[in-house]
Amino acid sequence: RALVTGMGHTSENRIAIVCDSDPDKLAEALSDGSYAGPLISAPRRIAAVGGKRDVARLAITTLHSASPEAPALLSLPEQAPYGRIAIDRDGCTLCLSCVSACPAGALSDNPDRPQVSFIESACVQCGLCQTTCPENVISLEARFNTEASAMQPMVLHSEEPATCTSCGKAFGTKSTIERIKSQLAGKHHMFRSDAQVNLIEMCDDCRINAQWNMEDSLLRTTSPRPRLRTTDDYLEAQESGLSVEDFLKEH
Ligand code: SF4
Ligand code: SF4
Repeated sequence: RALVTGMGHTSENRIAIVCDSDPDKLAEALSDGSYAGPLISAPRRIAAVGGKRDVARLAITTLHSASPEAPALLSLPEQAPYGRIAIDRDGCTLCLSCVSACPAGALSDNPDRPQVSFIESACVQCGLCQTTCPENVISLEARFNTEASAMQPMVLHSEEPATCTSCGKAFGTKSTIERIKSQLAGKHHMFRSDAQVNLIEMCDDCRINAQWNMEDSLLRTTSPRPRLRTTDDYLEAQESGLSVEDFLKEH
């Protein structure tokens, strides 16, 4: 009804659910005209191929093309199964959790760079991406977009990858690194000095190297691992009449 009204027609007496299981009564209900409002256009045939949503889209856009006054974007009530999402780019860290959560394939990433793309015609407005987003930067808008662009992927957010300040290798995204820095630098006991904060901007390998070479590195200051005791140690200690601790001290 929202779609028909949005196209500029009256929705009065246009849509009905006919539940009759008796074929004769069903035929009668369909032919007696009691469910039909004024004709919108001459009846047209469509090839109902594809999935449920494909067929529905084809029927809706065909009806739309017969409605000269209709706008390209039709507003729908909240929780309608058509619409788009928007991402507040300032808060998005491109963690891609929303892409993993989308059950309809409406969201996708790019293997070559940090990026989220969206296909509006595939979105069922389930809200899973919004619930999953750790930064709460996704909003939903119910609507029907009749334009062909609704079936094409559009980039919602994209960023240059962050590069390691030591070796230049691409890793993570700049916004994620900046966010981690703002939360840890000077606030966490392991990220107090400049050298420690700089570790955040390094890739895994360079971070370990830099940590190892730091003056007060925990990696180097830990005591050596104790020697492993074997059965032979116990047997030899027994033969020499020593406790195993004393035997190990002497050998
Ligand atoms: S919108 Fe949210 S879940 Fe999606 S990439 Fe951005 S921060 Fe992650
Ligand atoms: S609302 Fe649902 S279908 Fe639409 S993009 Fe989010 S997770 Fe995917």
